[in-house]
Amino acid sequence: MCSSEEAPELFRCLRCGDCCKGYGGTAVDEGDIAAIARHLNLSPGEVRDRFCLPAGKGHLLGQREDGYCVFWDGLCRIHPVKPRMCRRWPFIEGLLRDPGNWRVMASVCPGMRADAPLAHVLRFTAARLAAERREALASPSASSEP
Ligand code: SF4
Ligand code: SF4
Repeated sequence: MCSSEEAPELFRCLRCGDCCKGYGGTAVDEGDIAAIARHLNLSPGEVRDRFCLPAGKGHLLGQREDGYCVFWDGLCRIHPVKPRMCRRWPFIEGLLRDPGNWRVMASVCPGMRADAPLAHVLRFTAARLAAERREALASPSASSEP
């Protein structure tokens, strides 16, 4: 999923693609679907029908038989508009609840520094998510492009 190299002392994506396979799928919200639709010149309904699966009140990106995301092709085919969940990784909200999740996540993502100080992980994640919220408030109608 490889989102960011803003803090290379914490994370540097190796582009192995492991996070684009399995792990329960990738959740997409309506903003993600709209951005993907614009990128692929499709309607949001077509994106939902062709690439998504219903999951609870929302959707997950579909997976191929080999377990990879439908958009994985050696690299992410929708990189400029990849879903928020993919762009955030590994600086996700779950770390705010329990920074110890970093060690668990690092066991499946070789780009994460498993031994990083958790206080630094927490500080950086909180700042990054706050910046994302400020951006969303400043331009609520903007696409989800990074
Ligand atoms: S959308 Fe792209 S980055 Fe996200 S899981 Fe699919 S292939 Fe990976
Ligand atoms: S598992 Fe980690 S290192 Fe590999 S592509 Fe995903 S984010 Fe990058």
